[in-house]
Amino acid sequence: MATTKYVFDFEEPCEQGRALLGGKGAGLAEMTQLGIRVPAGFTITTDACRAFMQTHELPDGLDAEVDEHIARMEAKSGKHFGSSENPLLVSVRSGAAISMPGMMDTILNLGLDDAATEGLAALTGNTRFAYDSYRRLIQMYGEVVDGIDGQRFEDALGALKAERKATLDTDLTADDLRALVDTFKKIYADGTGAGFPTEAREQLLRAVRAVFHSWENPRAHVYRRVHEIPEDIGTAVNVVQMVFGNMGDRSATGVAFTRDPSTGEKGVYGEFLMNAQGEDVVAGIRTPEPLQAMEAILPAAFTEFAETMAELERHYRDMQDVEFTVEDGELFLLQTRAAKRTAVAGLKAAVEMVGEGLISREEAIVRIDPGSLDQLLHPRIDPHAVLDVVATGLNASPGAASGGIVFEADDAVEQAKTHPVILVRFETTPDDIHGMIAAEGILTVHGGMTSHAAVVARGMGKPCVAGCGGVVIDAEAKTMRVAGRLLGEGDVITIDGGTGRVFVGEVPLVAAKLNEDFETILGWADDVRRLQVWANGDTPEDAIRARGFGAQGIGLCRTEHMFFGNDRLPVVQEMILADSEVGRRSALDRLLPFQQADFEGIFEAMAGLPVTIRLLDPPLHEFLPDEADAVDEQMRARIRSLRESNPMLGTRGCRLGIMFPEIYEMQIRAIARAARAVEERTGAVPLVEIMHPLVAFREELRRLRALTETVWAEEAPGIEHHIGTMIEVPRACVRADEIAEEADFFSFGTNDLTQTTLAFSRDDAEGKFLTRYLEDGVLERNPFEVIDTEGVGELMRIAVERGRSTKPDLKIGICGEHGGEPHSIAFCEGLSLDYVSCSPFRVPLARLAAAQATIARSGSARYAAAGG
Ligand code: PEP
Ligand code: MG
Repeated sequence: MATTKYVFDFEEPCEQGRALLGGKGAGLAEMTQLGIRVPAGFTITTDACRAFMQTHELPDGLDAEVDEHIARMEAKSGKHFGSSENPLLVSVRSGAAISMPGMMDTILNLGLDDAATEGLAALTGNTRFAYDSYRRLIQMYGEVVDGIDGQRFEDALGALKAERKATLDTDLTADDLRALVDTFKKIYADGTGAGFPTEAREQLLRAVRAVFHSWENPRAHVYRRVHEIPEDIGTAVNVVQMVFGNMGDRSATGVAFTRDPSTGEKGVYGEFLMNAQGEDVVAGIRTPEPLQAMEAILPAAFTEFAETMAELERHYRDMQDVEFTVEDGELFLLQTRAAKRTAVAGLKAAVEMVGEGLISREEAIVRIDPGSLDQLLHPRIDPHAVLDVVATGLNASPGAASGGIVFEADDAVEQAKTHPVILVRFETTPDDIHGMIAAEGILTVHGGMTSHAAVVARGMGKPCVAGCGGVVIDAEAKTMRVAGRLLGEGDVITIDGGTGRVFVGEVPLVAAKLNEDFETILGWADDVRRLQVWANGDTPEDAIRARGFGAQGIGLCRTEHMFFGNDRLPVVQEMILADSEVGRRSALDRLLPFQQADFEGIFEAMAGLPVTIRLLDPPLHEFLPDEADAVDEQMRARIRSLRESNPMLGTRGCRLGIMFPEIYEMQIRAIARAARAVEERTGAVPLVEIMHPLVAFREELRRLRALTETVWAEEAPGIEHHIGTMIEVPRACVRADEIAEEADFFSFGTNDLTQTTLAFSRDDAEGKFLTRYLEDGVLERNPFEVIDTEGVGELMRIAVERGRSTKPDLKIGICGEHGGEPHSIAFCEGLSLDYVSCSPFRVPLARLAAAQATIARSGSARYAAAGG
């Protein structure tokens, strides 16, 4: 019977590479096979870890394989594991397929005991070094294998240094370290009730178990959850011959990048420590020196290192991050992996590598994380800032802002004249729009990723933290309570809409900076992508901004936002309060010029590109004040009569157009007149798309289409226009073939489609059960952020198939918030939609994500995204 092979030597090829050997193991094996000097060693596979997770025992046969590979290492090195004369020492290092820096454990110097330490001292002529290695082993082994509190060892080291008046660890003598070893052994015995194990083989096998075990430690679980790393992939364990950077003044250890990870500038960039072991660099006990200083101290090793770095980058065709050690003048590489990098560095490195002929343009596109582009488009928190986080809500709109607290939109407008303000509301409504414009950022207690605050803030490119339940507002007193503190109007807070964090006080920010590399990559993305990228925008300013970011059309103009200006709202209210069609028409006649002017502005800004205008969607009561604020009995009565238990399922969307056709008629007339006026004025004919919301039945759209055609024929005969519908209720998806008979285009309103498919309220779910669902893992992702591909997505697939079975060329797009989210964009590519539409600030991200989706679909990129 074939048994599973659990161990691979670094010299042995392994077909499944990373998945089986982990990132570190695969890198060590690949470097070894390239002829780069790597210490001898082998990898115990992730298969062994998965087997261990089942039984919490090492799988059968593993110990024999380990023995066999140790024997090979002995043969290669001429040293012996467990010998006291010529000891072979090894490290045991974790390494999963996806990097999880610092999450799992490592143990160095295995194979030492009292006798072997003396042997090492005699062999190297360096007693200090031998005891330094031994005390490190006892501490690491004690912590990792036996769970002894590391602080006990640190305290003992600190006490010894104080006694000897030593500032640095390296100031301690060999005798000091010998004494420290005795103290450490006592701590070990005290912690375990047993002596420190003297058997090298026992040390090794217990260490392997401990590393497998560390896959399941709580911090690793948290890390995997945050980074969406599967729980069941397990870690590999690398057993590597020790090389010593702490062997004296011809030894060193360090870390380096092939390009600067914060700017992307070419040239080896890193730091090192003389006479030290790897963990000293990471632990920050001594301050490392810049790598260039090594050239003068260890010139031969430095030259070889520079050449090796160049070779590694050529081989991997990506920026590398390496660990190295110089042992008595001889260079060894201990790790190489794709380097983590800032957005700026990622763009620069990708563009330059294309220039150097190292990678193709498509590979450059695939390597950029679209989400990282937010770093460039919005101000963000200075990474070095000291932070006082008091609450965390949803990261509803990226960017960071500081300002004095205001609780009312009017106060925001007033106070913004003298200083920056943050508008803090339980939730926002269209009524707050002027305050949102005046504020630097918006913080809401209630509401989710598609709440009014979130959608509008994203549209404006303003930071927003939504659904921040940790904040309790007292609207009367104009105060808020958060994390036990009472804050009042004018107190300064900072919000980070990229992470959802809220801070007390002003926090230093780093400004947004667009650069040439960014433009270059986006230009390449435009050449590749199939999906068009349109923008959601309600004003001429939005349209201008959207075009600046590269939008190819307006996919959603929400006309209700035009009803809220100070000069309009009273007329809108008059229209709603009127008790007859005549009364309504008289008010609508006065609204028409306002709407027409808005549309003209947008059409001019878009200069012939498509503009999709959605007719009135929200329930009418949203335009009236609270009952308590009604000015007279008539208004009070009307407010009461418009009240509905479930307004989101009530008289809204196209139902308004059917109930009060004169409202839609006015809007269509304004659109048609604007189109004609702009054509006459500029010569550029706007491509107008009139969109009817919330259609469920063909008959709704048939009637509204007839109304639209009649009005259009009166106002702008001969000007091309399209009539279509949003697809935002399940019925419309399943009856899409019939609905397509009446539609020139479909646009998925996935905010409502998610709400109506899941029966999750857009307004309430995220503050309540959905938060819990996400924490408890009932759902992996927020469906209002990333399309629920299996449910909502399946309905979309049906709608596309059925719609196009009626009209093969039916234009189909998406204008819900998902249109600017990379996973959802990839899904839309898979459905062969024609365009995605998102807020103007997301347009660059969407251009990149759309190109990545095209590349992934055609399978033509030879390289997966970097960063592992
Ligand atoms: C939608 O429902 O996805 C949509 C775009 O419309 P709104 O968010 O305005 O309801
Ligand atoms: Mg909708």
